[in-house]
Formats: sequence, C-alpha cells, structure tokens
Amino acid sequence: MASYASPSLVLLVAAAMAAVVIIVASPVVAAFPAGLPEPPFPNPWSAFQNLSGCHMGDERDGLARLKDYLSHFGYLPEAPSSSPFSDAFDADLEAAIATYQRNFGLNATGALDPSTVSQMVAPRCGVADVINGTSTMDRNSSAAGAHGRHLYTYFPGGPMWPPFRRDLKYAIVATSATSIDRATLSAVFARAFSRWSAATTLQFAETASESDADITIGFYAGDHGDGEAFDGPLGTLAHAFSPTDGRFHLDAAEAWVAADGGDASSFPGAVDLESVAVHEIGHLLGLGHSSVQGAIMYPTIRTGTRKVELATDDVQGIQSMYGTNPNFKGVAPTSPSTSSREMDSSAGAECRPGSGFVGAVVAVGLLLLLPL
Ligand SMILES: [Zn+2]
Ligand SMILES: [Zn+2]
Repeated sequence: MASYASPSLVLLVAAAMAAVVIIVASPVVAAFPAGLPEPPFPNPWSAFQNLSGCHMGDERDGLARLKDYLSHFGYLPEAPSSSPFSDAFDADLEAAIATYQRNFGLNATGALDPSTVSQMVAPRCGVADVINGTSTMDRNSSAAGAHGRHLYTYFPGGPMWPPFRRDLKYAIVATSATSIDRATLSAVFARAFSRWSAATTLQFAETASESDADITIGFYAGDHGDGEAFDGPLGTLAHAFSPTDGRFHLDAAEAWVAADGGDASSFPGAVDLESVAVHEIGHLLGLGHSSVQGAIMYPTIRTGTRKVELATDDVQGIQSMYGTNPNFKGVAPTSPSTSSREMDSSAGAECRPGSGFVGAVVAVGLLLLLPL
C-alpha cells in the first residue's frame, strides 16, 4: 500500500507548527475555556442594545431585565420575590439611570441613549457601584475633594486591614477551571500585587497554604456558592470582597490572557487577567469603585485592553488608608492614547474579527480533536 499524507493533514500540521512558533515567540498565554465559541463571544447583556432610545413612560420587553442589572449593581433596590420588576419605564428607573450616568461621566438624562447602553454592556467587575443605597461613586461625595478630581471611594464603613497587618499572604487556591499554568498565574498575581505594594506600606507574598493565607484567589464557573453566580463569557468578569474577607473570584468562562508586558489586544474578545487582578486587589484592600475613567478602580474594562498602572486617584485612595511607601516613585504620566482606547465607546463589548493568534490557537485545538 502506498504511503502518503493527506493534503488536509499536512495543512493542519503546518498550521499547528506555525502556531507553536508564534506561541513560543510570544510572552502571552491565553486560556480560552473549552467550548468557547469564536469571537464575537455571546454577551449576556447584548439584549440591552434593543432598549436604546427608551425613556420615561415607555413600556418595552427587556426593561425588567435592565432593572435586574441596575439592581445588581446597586442602582435600584432588589424587587421583592412576590412582585418582580415590570417592563415599565417608571420614575424609579429614570432616577437609577441618571445616577448610573453621573457615575460614568455621561449626560445625566435618565433616558437610555446609545452611549449609556454601550457603557452598560461593557464587561465589568461584579462588585456593586452603589452599596446600601449609598453611591460609592458619587462625584459630590466628600472624597471628591475641592476640585472634584479625586474620586476614589471606600466600602461603606471603611473596612480595611488593621495596622498590625501590613504583611499579607495570598494563596492561589482554585485553578482546575483554568488552563493557565501555575507558574504564569503566580507571576501575573505577583505583578498585580506589586502595583499596590509599590505605593503603600503593604507587603504581599504568595503562600502555598490556604489556611495560612489572608487572601484566596480562584477561578469559578457559574454559581459557586457565594450568591454571586458568574455569567459566562463577558458580563461580569470577577469580584472580590472587602477587608478582611480576602476572597477574590474570577469567572472561569472568560477568554483570559496573561500578558507579560505584552499586548492584550492581540487577542480580540479576550480579557487581560493582570488588569482585572490589579482592580480586584483594590477591593481586597478596601477601595470601592471610582468615576475616574483612567483609574484602576473604574468598574469596566474593554476587551483586548491592558490597564495595570495605578492612576493618581488610586494612589491617593490607597495611601489614605495605608500610608505611603517612602520608595514610591509616583504615578507615570497618563498616556492619552491609552485612555482614549480604553474609553472608545464604539468598541463596547463587541469583539473585533479574530486575529491570527486566535486562529492559530483554534487550529491547534482542531488538530488535537482529530482522531489519529
Ligand atoms: Zn470592582
Ligand atoms: Zn464569588
């Protein structure tokens, strides 16, 4: 029998070899969960786009779900189970949307204009913006300062790690739901913690012992027992609890990328793990959300972007709680290109067409699935 290689197999092997070369040459690690469709990924909030243009007095299918969303992030009280939200655009919804718009620097019209809807569907942190009816992002709060420029916030009551706890230990405890290797995770979280220790008197060290850890980090899918179920790709990305709880959970269903100073935009539709980690550590230390678009503690992050440098607002917030590291070199000047890319509202949570990287990763996946 003549021996030959099928043309399709040769192509696949060539594609796989090319992919391996690309992956080896790149410091970026991607962990796309099994079963994740190709970009654009389904966005759990995309139906809100059908509500664009709605205003007071309207009745529209889907407004009840938008009220659930606003309630989740603290802008509306929870609906009693005996009387779920209706699809009526009432005065309470108008007031909730206006508060949301003020928090995100949008025109506070109380109507669902396109820029408001675009902001609402952006992937974000699961921690509420308004806690116990107090807008933690209120621009007129006492934290806003004389010129309204510094908008960092605390959780209600200002919980923080006590003065005798300046050396905190963290453990990476739940990794079975992610394919990012352990060494990469250790490096990513160490870099994320170092952003905060550079500015303050806090020190962080990884420990292998969960019982020894002040902070625990893990990847979880869906309902994972703390009443804050994750929602699949996009939507909420992660959440963390205020001091001294120490729990930090990441949605295992996201297409996470772990970039070592690399460019997360190589993976459209994917979320930069280190950027989200720096944000959630802010919560673990006691910071709430900020209205400053360039701040780490701003609630949303666009896909394919990397944002790991503390802004002045973050530094002032954390130093007001834990003091200043005498070796802190200050905040790097803000790059206008970074902030404009970050806030490009047209980008929304939409994903640009797949890149070569994603194609190569998918090609390897296909090859592995082939029966040999
Ligand atoms: Zn957050
Ligand atoms: Zn959780």
